[in-house]
Amino acid sequence: MRSPIDESLNLPGVWRPGTLVLLLSCWLALAGNLPLWRALSVVPETSGWRGVLFSLGFAVWIAAALMALLSLLAWPRLVKPLAVLVLLAAATSTYFMLQYSVVIDATMMANVFNTDAREVRDLVSWPLLLSFVVLAGLPLWWLLRRKIVRRPFWSQAWRNGLGALVAVGVLALVTLASFQDLASLMRNHKEVRYLINPLNVIYASGKLLGDRIPRARRQMQTIGLDVKLGPSYTGQQRTPLVVMVVGETARAANFSLGGYARPTNPEMQQLKAAGGLTYFSAVHSCGTNTQASLPCMFSHLGKRDYESASQPFENLLDVLQRAGLAVLWLDNQSGCKDLCERVTQVVTRTLEAPGLCEGGECLDEIMLKDLDERIAALDPARRARGVVVVMHQMGSHGPAYYRRSPAGYKKFLPECSTNVLQNCTREQLLNAYDNSVVYTDHVLASTARWLDEKARVGNADSAMVYVSDHGESLGENNLYLHGLPYALAPDFQTHVPMVTWLSAAMQKRSGVRVSCLQQQAGEPLTHDNLFHSLLGLLDLQTSLYRKEMDWFAPCR
Ligand SMILES: [Zn+2]
Repeated sequence: MRSPIDESLNLPGVWRPGTLVLLLSCWLALAGNLPLWRALSVVPETSGWRGVLFSLGFAVWIAAALMALLSLLAWPRLVKPLAVLVLLAAATSTYFMLQYSVVIDATMMANVFNTDAREVRDLVSWPLLLSFVVLAGLPLWWLLRRKIVRRPFWSQAWRNGLGALVAVGVLALVTLASFQDLASLMRNHKEVRYLINPLNVIYASGKLLGDRIPRARRQMQTIGLDVKLGPSYTGQQRTPLVVMVVGETARAANFSLGGYARPTNPEMQQLKAAGGLTYFSAVHSCGTNTQASLPCMFSHLGKRDYESASQPFENLLDVLQRAGLAVLWLDNQSGCKDLCERVTQVVTRTLEAPGLCEGGECLDEIMLKDLDERIAALDPARRARGVVVVMHQMGSHGPAYYRRSPAGYKKFLPECSTNVLQNCTREQLLNAYDNSVVYTDHVLASTARWLDEKARVGNADSAMVYVSDHGESLGENNLYLHGLPYALAPDFQTHVPMVTWLSAAMQKRSGVRVSCLQQQAGEPLTHDNLFHSLLGLLDLQTSLYRKEMDWFAPCR
């Protein structure tokens, strides 16, 4: 007697999981890879008939690779949720690759996993919804209404294994047949490998988990156990007060302090003329996105060692705190990426202050509001030695640049007032971005003025250090936003503005001459210099300190 399971095999309109996975793989290889096909259509390797043939082979190659992976998951109960997941992932990454020319790698996925509701709201748009409907909605509408064959476990298991095996065979054949073209394409156009959808998402997520899980399980390594206050602290009534401003998505190319033709830094230009401010014009970031740059900036390791470190280390803030100083992290953005776990943290982004906050986010001036009270609330014994405040800005975070400046600072009009950058002219886009820089100029100058008062009226030897976490592409070579792998990223994404401002009192205390700094300000620097320069400015002594990395040292 036949079991009901066997009977269902022959019913019309009942589908095998393997067939559905095959169709899914083909759909993803073709429709889910529009950015890849667009990129391939313009490279010289794919011109002529040989190129067409190669592109066809590449499509089969991608379908086979997907089939090999998805076959292993082709279980009756799993096929539909699996399809939902991969189609949504493919639709999202297709949209961002097409609209902004970004590519999907591990740091981009880290960004995705660390994003929050506010950032998502900035990104949601009609074209994004359209890409969901066409790339994911249509196939799901068909697929979710199919009936699926149920087989006993082992029967399904060997079919899945066979499906994967056949797919691997096809993959090997296509690879052999087109090896020469495939190898030269990958060598000459490295970005292509990050465009293969959704293998890029799967690979990047896997790499991210592989990197993070072992690192998270390892013990945090302490650093700077030998740190102590230098001689400038003894017999002193005055204490250092340093504000470290972490900029967001500010690129050096749009700072008039660095030679940009539009007056985007009017207030800081005045401070420079008055003599306390220095603009460093050749600074490069550690990474091309917040997730990569921020921890690297505060690390003692420097970019190369930070990126290859297999265990987590404490950071600059821990060393400052260990030296006995009071440390306060103000966050007006997406959080401190685990940097500020052991110091006092205040999230200003979610505060409610009329005129400064709206729709779940605040303008950067919020970090100056109530700052005296926030500092007064820190440990008095630590405050008596010195205070370091980190301000994590919202800066020029895109793509909704127009949200990053209040009406009074919208100097350049008309500005792009949508997050669909392609709907704006280049001029409108630049206007919106430049307005965010004008506002950042105001925030930084206001911070310096606040610090100046602390030095003149109070007993603080005050200083400010500002550096952006990474830059931004604004349509150059059709690239938008940031986050390209470092080796592929244009200078716009890595060349960042950096500013120091020293009160007269801090100049006296540290012995640093600003006129000297201004002369040296064209020397190439990176985020790697930050750790040592802050230790040097604060006169903290530890074996971690490297004088040759301290940009203040030649001017003391
Ligand atoms: Zn950032």
